[in-house]
Amino acid sequence: MKLRLDAGDITQLYVDAIVNAAKKSLLGGGGVDGAIHRAAGPELLEECKTLGGCETGEAKITKGYDLPAKYVIHTVGPIWSGKEGYGGDNNEAELLASCYINSLQLAEKKELRSIAFPCISTGAYGYPKQQAAMIAVNACKVFSNRAESLREIIFCCYDDESLAIYRQLLTD
Ligand code: ADP
Repeated sequence: MKLRLDAGDITQLYVDAIVNAAKKSLLGGGGVDGAIHRAAGPELLEECKTLGGCETGEAKITKGYDLPAKYVIHTVGPIWSGKEGYGGDNNEAELLASCYINSLQLAEKKELRSIAFPCISTGAYGYPKQQAAMIAVNACKVFSNRAESLREIIFCCYDDESLAIYRQLLTD
């Protein structure tokens, strides 16, 4: 099992599944969600409409349609409620870890070999990037010990700050 980094747009990746940092409605939004829906085409929204939304920390899977990825795993990250250095009083850390674990579990259930994550919750949802990255890497490392089909987990970092944080964490 390999954990690796990629810089840039998750919609361009040729992997079995990309993960979407979705909203509870699963009906599209801004940021990475908007980019995924634009690249996948309108059929993705049609399938999402049949799913009945998704709770924070949980995950649901659809096909990838026009994306190079075969599947999209939609997960809903927690909205950060704390202040920098304080916060996260609403179980944010556990919920964010659940996003990663539940997405990986869905990928295993479908016997997928590769999956790429964006930096969930660190855009519009305001989660501090360093803390979010530590949770992401830790959850994926723990999971990798019991992975069966999965061979590769990619952290897709869209901005330079995230890339630097993950580079540091993965070389530690
Ligand atoms: P959230 O609402 O979970 O915070 P956002 O989409 O606002 O979701 O941001 C999550 C992360 O996705 C941010 O780090 C943002 O820079 C990144 N991002 C935005 N567009 C893309 C893209 N096309 N590919 C990969 N990551 C992206």
